[in-house]
Amino acid sequence: MKYGRTYNFSAGPATMPEPVLEEIRDEMMNYRGSGMCVMEMSHRSKVFQQIADEAEQDLRDLMGIPDNYKVLFIQGGATLQFSMVPMNLMKNGLACYVETGAWSKKAIAEAKRVGEVKVVASSKDKNYSYVPDCSDLDIPDEADYLYICENETIHGNTFPTLPNAKGHVLVSDQSSMFLSRPCNVSDYGLIYAGVQKNVGPAGMVIVIIREDLIRDGLDDLPIYLRYKTHADADSMYNTPNCWCMYVCGKVFKYLKSIGGLSEMEKINQAKAKVLYDFLDQSKLFHGTVDKKDRSLMNVTFVTGDADLDAATVAYTKAAGFENLKGHRSVGGLRASIYNAMPQAGVEALVDCLARFEREHGKE
Ligand SMILES: *Cc1c(COP(=O)(O)O)cnc(C)c1O
Repeated sequence: MKYGRTYNFSAGPATMPEPVLEEIRDEMMNYRGSGMCVMEMSHRSKVFQQIADEAEQDLRDLMGIPDNYKVLFIQGGATLQFSMVPMNLMKNGLACYVETGAWSKKAIAEAKRVGEVKVVASSKDKNYSYVPDCSDLDIPDEADYLYICENETIHGNTFPTLPNAKGHVLVSDQSSMFLSRPCNVSDYGLIYAGVQKNVGPAGMVIVIIREDLIRDGLDDLPIYLRYKTHADADSMYNTPNCWCMYVCGKVFKYLKSIGGLSEMEKINQAKAKVLYDFLDQSKLFHGTVDKKDRSLMNVTFVTGDADLDAATVAYTKAAGFENLKGHRSVGGLRASIYNAMPQAGVEALVDCLARFEREHGKE
């Protein structure tokens, strides 16, 4: 590995593409003859405006975002969207949520502070180890939207197909799967993603919202919490997270250079298969999620024995693999294998886990 870097399986902030880090290094002291680093620049300067415009355009190109959707770069992470979504989209005061893990649970708790929440499907009964059938949900006519967390980072599940929203607005938290595969934006009313999982540094969320959902007249809402504020100001109502926009822009260009999202999906499928194939034949480890709903990004697995799980984590760490401990609320192990994790990293991890298994006599 170059620069003494390790394979980092962190769920977020997470590993970045090395060519992007190298470009940033090269531009650190003097960005393209501007005489300064991007983090020193006015967000109102021409040179930064170009960075912001290109970032948005490259994202639009990558995802094929239709013209009637706005792209917003907002601070406060994905967590602030748990509140901004209901504050801005609840007109009738009722929204439907699918509960598939820790992040949808948090979103539900926040939405309840704003209006009425109906949980229309849940996999809580089996510790969120699957995605419930969402083909025929009981969604009241007056519901303002249907909400999902499309990939549950902590529990390791992902929607194999989108729910049948029955004509209602679909809202999706894509934080831990954003840009991991092609996405048909017009299936959604609103998509958001905290970028530190699969795209860039922490501290920013990207919101893709259909224009007709951006409302006027939310006079009781703090100005900063209205989508309209950010849309009208092209994400520069106040000083945006300039550095994050710059880095994300580089990642968008990088993804375009490797062939876009369908190419990225192929790479991600091949990569996840290496790990899931290993888990499926292992006598020691097993995956925690139903096969049909497994995440390509966050692979959760256990031995069934907490001490052995901890020993595995220690063993992988000693071998140079970082951040394989499962989330504190779930235990076990989790390998986050986002876009930027090379297949070689996953193969090396599998070798290490197989070695551990042999040494523990369950071959
Ligand atoms: C990490 C994560 C969040 C929270 O992101 P923050 O930027 O820390 O607020 C929300 N949803 C999902 C699915 C996540 O993975």
